[in-house]
Parts: sequence; structure tokens; C-alpha cells
Amino acid sequence: MRWASWVRRDDGAVGHAGGLMRRRGLPRAGRVRAVRRSFPAFSPTAPQVRAAGTGRPGPGTRPGRRGGPGHWFDHFKWCLVRAAVTMAGSGEAGGADMVLEVRRLHLASLRGVDGLEWPVHGFVVTHPGGAVLVDTGVGGPQEWLDDWRVVNRSVADALAGLDMTPGDIDLVINTHLHFDHCGQNAVFPHAAFYVQRAELDRARRESPELYDWFGFAGARFELLDGDADILPGLSVIATPGHTAGHQCVVARSAAGAADLMIGDAAYTPRLYAGPADGKLPPGQASDPAAWRRSLGRIHAVSPARVHFCHHTDVVHG
Ligand SMILES: [Zn+2]
Repeated sequence: MRWASWVRRDDGAVGHAGGLMRRRGLPRAGRVRAVRRSFPAFSPTAPQVRAAGTGRPGPGTRPGRRGGPGHWFDHFKWCLVRAAVTMAGSGEAGGADMVLEVRRLHLASLRGVDGLEWPVHGFVVTHPGGAVLVDTGVGGPQEWLDDWRVVNRSVADALAGLDMTPGDIDLVINTHLHFDHCGQNAVFPHAAFYVQRAELDRARRESPELYDWFGFAGARFELLDGDADILPGLSVIATPGHTAGHQCVVARSAAGAADLMIGDAAYTPRLYAGPADGKLPPGQASDPAAWRRSLGRIHAVSPARVHFCHHTDVVHG
């Protein structure tokens, strides 16, 4: 596995983040780091990363404000996790001998675009060095929850069902930044959030209220530009279409079989198979042409199992 140096933006994201903080009368608190395409990275020498926000938590554990020595402890802990994973994945078979296990969390139900009740799932991917959470469930302004008739569940309670706590999650991947996928990010103030740069830009532009919600004070974003390896055996593929910066998560086991967490790249197995009439339900694609291209990329992965955020079936390849 190759390790990359950090590529730090000196404009763009940094300017945006700082600018928003300044507009809100808050001190400029740090920089948003960017991860170079296809390379995971962590640098203990990189500065702390923050994004602007109100500090409002999602449901569940109330996070404290970040900063100070605690961050360096987090960095140290994360170094150990990454080291453990690297060692575990550096044997004869490289990352292929990693044992990754995908477990589903039921995080909420809400009224779907067809008027029926839909589940909201997150996924825990456990590996020898720790655990990764894919999407954090529903959270946001109360009127949004009312509009979508959300029956919510604390992600901390859901994790307890797996005999885990939020502290066991070292890293969060948001497939995208809709309120039912990042709403409880604030339950994990110690974790780094891996998102596509294009998605953070979209959310900042289109949903400033939600951006304030998930971009709580001290939130650390690792910005990705396209496909990226996150850990040995764990990667993301860029799948724009549902939103501009949507990504799917792929976990490969020892035999090479892939579990694909599809996020909202397809709401249902039928949409994953490809809608016969070519019609898409409302909200499925903000850019239908990009959505179709991304669906082709997903099929090219030939996943052994596809896990849906809003459907209970698991499609076996
Ligand atoms: Zn969505």
C-alpha cells in the first residue's frame, strides 16, 4: 500500500471554510485538508482540520467543541489504527488478507419519495485495526424531520446493538451529504469524515442550513477527488448523479469478493438493475446522464453483494 503526502489547498476549501467562519464572527480555526486522488493519507504533521458550523449536534451523544491537546491524542490514536491496518495488510497477500466485515445498522424510517415508509441504513465495516462507519443516519432541523415523517434512532443506540459505542468508530465515510446520511455526524467528533470535495462544495452551496448542522465546530473532513483507497481492502468510487459528489463504498474480502454500499446511487434493487422504462423516481438523480454513467461504473465492480441505504434486500451478484 502506498502512502501519500498531503496536498493542501491554499485557496478554495480553505478560503470557503475560513470565510464562513469569519462571516459568523468566529475565529478562523484551521484548514481543510485534501486527499490526493487514489491515495489514502494521514499525516501526523498536518494541521488540525475544522469546518465551520454552529456546533449543533445530531441526535444522540452531544459532542464537545474540539481543539487543544485532545486533537493530538486523536491523531496519535489514529496513527496506531492506521499502522495496525497497514501491518495486517502488508503480508504476502498485501491487502487481500484483510478480513472486512460489513454489518448493517437500522437508523431510521422515513416517508420515501413514493409516499411509502423507507428504512435508513448505515453500515459498520470492521477490520483488524478498528471500525469504519458508512453514513450516520438522520439529523437536521426539526421541520425537516417533520416533513419527512422521520422515526429516528440514535446512531449510538444502533451501535449498542452491535456491542459498540461511537468511540469505537475511527473513521466515517459519508456517501453524500443529504440529511439522512450525515445527520448524526456530530456524534463522532473524534472521527475524520471522508467525503468528496465536490459534495462538500455542493452542500455548502445548496444546503447552508444542513452544512451548519453536519459541519459542527471541529468537524474534520478529508476531501477526496474521485476514486480513493481508504484502507487496505476498503475504497470509494465516485458515482455522481444522485448528487454532484456522491460516492459508493467498496469492501473487498480475502477472496476478492466485494461488498458494495451503494448509498443513494440507487434507492432500490430495481433501480440498481436499471429501470426498464428509463424513468427515475423523484430525487434519484440530480443529473440523469451522470447517474447512468455512474450506474455503469458500479456494475463494473461486479459486487458480490450490494447493500442499500433505503431497502432491506441485499442483492447478490
Ligand atoms: Zn440522498
